[in-house]
Amino acid sequence: MSGVAIYYDASRCTACKGCQVACKTWNELPSPLEKNSQEWSGSLQNPPDLNGNTRLVMTFREADNDTKWGIDWAFGRRSCMHCGEPACVIACPTGCLQKDEDTGFVVLDTDKCIGCQYCRSACPFDVPRHTGVGLDGMGITINKCTGCVDRVRHDRSPACVTACQPEALDFGPRDEMIAKAEARVATLHERGFDKARVYGKDEVGGCHTIHVLKYGLEMYELPENPQVPEFTRAEDGVMKVLTGVGAAGVVAGLGLSFLTGVGYHRDEQRYDEKTGDIIDVDTGEVVRHIDKEAGER
Ligand code: SF4
Ligand code: SF4
Ligand code: SF4
Repeated sequence: MSGVAIYYDASRCTACKGCQVACKTWNELPSPLEKNSQEWSGSLQNPPDLNGNTRLVMTFREADNDTKWGIDWAFGRRSCMHCGEPACVIACPTGCLQKDEDTGFVVLDTDKCIGCQYCRSACPFDVPRHTGVGLDGMGITINKCTGCVDRVRHDRSPACVTACQPEALDFGPRDEMIAKAEARVATLHERGFDKARVYGKDEVGGCHTIHVLKYGLEMYELPENPQVPEFTRAEDGVMKVLTGVGAAGVVAGLGLSFLTGVGYHRDEQRYDEKTGDIIDVDTGEVVRHIDKEAGER
């Protein structure tokens, strides 16, 4: 498999979140208060997970180890893996999500998104997130990492990669990134990190994000054997035909039963940056209002 890849070495990462900020900046994504404003999460991970305005989150876990401090931090990267066989692309009925053949990245055309969120249900990493529901119940679009393909097509590295000072991130031909990751894991094994491993080389058809994991897989919120769900393949033909006749309303209706059938879950609340309201996604009701000048009410 050719193409390019983003390389992430968890053993070099200091969790400075420079990459997270660079992603927001380049992609012009806001940082509303959302869930961390409501209660202390007990973690330095902020926001707690991906959301409609956040394509990349650095994850924080503690590992018990026989070190000077008794624990080690296990920092991780949570974003799109750019799967070789992307379930989101298979599931998407409108062509909003597509595999870019030159790079291998999975790209996004939000103008085509009808907000059905089949992609999120299908993704084995639970990556795509919707941007919320307007008070009129309309206006949902999906957001996720595009590999900064708009930069890459102009011979630039993804924004996150350019921000990383300790060289935990790199970008280049996929084969080279895999070789680099395997060499780093060999070094970590020599240093006693027996569980160190490469992740993304073979998973889901071979990903275009390659991780070096310093500790065991369980420290990084990544699945052991991610797969394209069978229900995604089964629905594929049906969905493409429906879209072909432009039946967006029918698609939405079928989506409801489909999502119910697979145990679909969604965020419960969203923050409307313009009004300062926190809104129940299911009912559209304003749950709380945050006045930035006078404080929350
Ligand atoms: S910029 Fe580099 S060191 Fe900082 S959080 Fe991102 S990957 Fe880790
Ligand atoms: S990680 Fe999820 S969103 Fe990203 S390419 Fe794979 S299936 Fe699609
Ligand atoms: S490649 Fe671009 S969109 Fe993806 S996480 Fe990095 S900065 Fe964000």
